Amino acid sequence: MEHKTEDFEKQFPEIYKDVYCGFCLPAGWSDLVWKLSEDIQRELDRPENIEIKSSFKVAQIKEKFGGLRFNTDGGPKSIDKLIDVAEKESFHICETCGKPGLLRKGGWIRTLCDEHSRGREAYPVKKDGSVDWDSLLDDAE
Ligand SMILES: [Zn+2]
Repeated sequence: MEHKTEDFEKQFPEIYKDVYCGFCLPAGWSDLVWKLSEDIQRELDRPENIEIKSSFKVAQIKEKFGGLRFNTDGGPKSIDKLIDVAEKESFHICETCGKPGLLRKGGWIRTLCDEHSRGREAYPVKKDGSVDWDSLLDDAE
């Protein structure tokens, strides 16, 4: 299911109170970011994070080099970790439809499923499933 910007703002007002650098979320990642928002809210609701709660905010959401960028201000390490996991996951989710995807070569680098890649070749993936960035850099030279 696709969640729109206003759905996020309505459901998680403490997180998305002031996304001052822009909220630009590809449709295919809306479930991923929805789950991340639920996890962040759970962290913010912990008693030890009560002081962080008012200062924490999401500054920007966007796609960069085929992956999710989720930039925040004032969060604890536990939230940074959650974000890190979601950003890595985004490299395996088609940003158009949310199905399993791969990082594609050719033009604007994007993470896409077979259907939406329209035959674009995928970047190699390492044994642990992460994108092989070294091969990507070789290509760019
Ligand atoms: Zn797709």
